[in-house]
Amino acid sequence: MSFDNFLVNMILLNSDDPNLEALTEEWSLYRYVDAQDECEKGTMWSELNYTCLCGHHPLRHLYYFVNNINGNEILLGSECFKIFNDAYAFKDISKFLEGKVIRLGLFGLNLLFLEGFLNEKDYNFYKSMNYRRKFSERQQDKMDIIEGRIRVKYM
Ligand SMILES: [Zn+2]
Repeated sequence: MSFDNFLVNMILLNSDDPNLEALTEEWSLYRYVDAQDECEKGTMWSELNYTCLCGHHPLRHLYYFVNNINGNEILLGSECFKIFNDAYAFKDISKFLEGKVIRLGLFGLNLLFLEGFLNEKDYNFYKSMNYRRKFSERQQDKMDIIEGRIRVKYM
């Protein structure tokens, strides 16, 4: 069993639906914390005892996921976050390009941000729009521009 499979299995254990296909719908990234920001003065992130789902510790970058169905929470470090995200980002991007969804999903968005294709400002803006149903004209224009750039990238 590869490490990627091990991680996915660990995540599935916390999932509601044991079907792999359901993973992206079930899990949402809801919080990112830099462990150094949680430290008292004079202590280092490496002295805190945050542990990734895979068992790796200490962690500097903390990615918290919540299961939308059963409420389970998991914590991933940056290595596992990247593996988990990359595995599902492609699916998000394909669904978006094929017009099966209106908005690009969070995994796809994360990948474009990690790749440096989206800057932090655009990333945060688009992410905040993902949870809304109504937009102002200005917000809609801005989203159209970002989505247009994404479509061109994969043309
Ligand atoms: Zn890990």
